Amino acid sequence: MTDSSTLSTPAPQPKPWIEAIHAYVPGKSKGKDGRPLIKLSANENPLGTSAAALEARAQAPALYPDPDSTALRTTIAAKHGLDAARVVMGTGSDELLNLAAQGYAGPGDDVIYVRYGFSVYDIAARRCGATPVVAPDLDFGTDVDALLALVTERTRVVFVANPNNPTGSYLPGGEIARLHAGLPADVLLVIDQAYGEYVAAEDDDGALALAEAHANVLVTRTFSKIFGLAGERIGWATGAPGLIATLNRIRGPFNVSSTGQAMALAALADDAFVEASRVHNRDERARFVAKLEALGNHGLRPLPSEANFVLVLFEGALTAEAAFDGLAERGYVVRWLPGQGLPQALRITIGKSEDMDVIAEGLREMAEAAQ
Ligand SMILES: *Cc1c(COP(=O)(O)O)cnc(C)c1O
Repeated sequence: MTDSSTLSTPAPQPKPWIEAIHAYVPGKSKGKDGRPLIKLSANENPLGTSAAALEARAQAPALYPDPDSTALRTTIAAKHGLDAARVVMGTGSDELLNLAAQGYAGPGDDVIYVRYGFSVYDIAARRCGATPVVAPDLDFGTDVDALLALVTERTRVVFVANPNNPTGSYLPGGEIARLHAGLPADVLLVIDQAYGEYVAAEDDDGALALAEAHANVLVTRTFSKIFGLAGERIGWATGAPGLIATLNRIRGPFNVSSTGQAMALAALADDAFVEASRVHNRDERARFVAKLEALGNHGLRPLPSEANFVLVLFEGALTAEAAFDGLAERGYVVRWLPGQGLPQALRITIGKSEDMDVIAEGLREMAEAAQ
């Protein structure tokens, strides 16, 4: 509601770079009619979370948490063979991605990432007044040469998610190493491994080793995906002491809650849950992709994915928008991404076996009917 009196009244004006931000669009959990749907739109773990983590939640104290998350950092470091002094916790990896941009970039600086990259990078760049610079994709994947071609003396930060969201694409270690080798030493390379635990050990991209060996590499991880703790908002990052000191200066002082620290510690000890989640995802993703590949003559194209979701392109008579609506009628909400330049695609989280069967069957019915 506006009228002439409010228009003529001076009001606080946001900074222009803040006003230019399109707020993050979260995955939906309801249909257009408000009906609750099975949510395969936010890459959550269909197995839930570790029972040990749920038990730990009940025991957590209600007072201020340990501001340094010491026990949690020590356990993470031991698990990955890192120095605990080189680990910093965040309120989700989202906080750490924003702090990385804020700590190293500002007005007049460039922050680079790929087209069809994680939508938080654009927000993180703009929040600190830096200019987002978007590299073209390579058939929806990350193109190292395209990223390097955009580097100038204004470049301060490069973000790469590996595996990438929403495409699921994955750069092998050699490509990550080539990207790092091509960057000036004073450019921060942030490698976002939110889906790192889903990748087979032999396909490790070497990012943690790069972060250990070089002063300009930060790796971020999260408890939101395979650990199933998205509701608690817990992420971590590792890198050289200088990078960690910067993030510690500007992070929230009590940025991981007591329940979050307790649940994450319990989740880290439950290797069986994590392994079951990884195997479920690997097997169900392969089964789902095989069914969609059989619909290739109807224009459905699942992109190769190393993550817990598949991006499906609709290049035939059935559109992504119609498929989104048809899946909602069948009780499911997935992610349609017109706002990210992907009106022809749906990102579908790998859920329970029976749900993936219903979705694959629904897509087949709709694709055949759309002929
Ligand atoms: C889900 C996701 C994250 C995790 O965000 P949190 O704030 O830790 O929940 C980070 N990066 C990417 C690419 C993601 O998809």
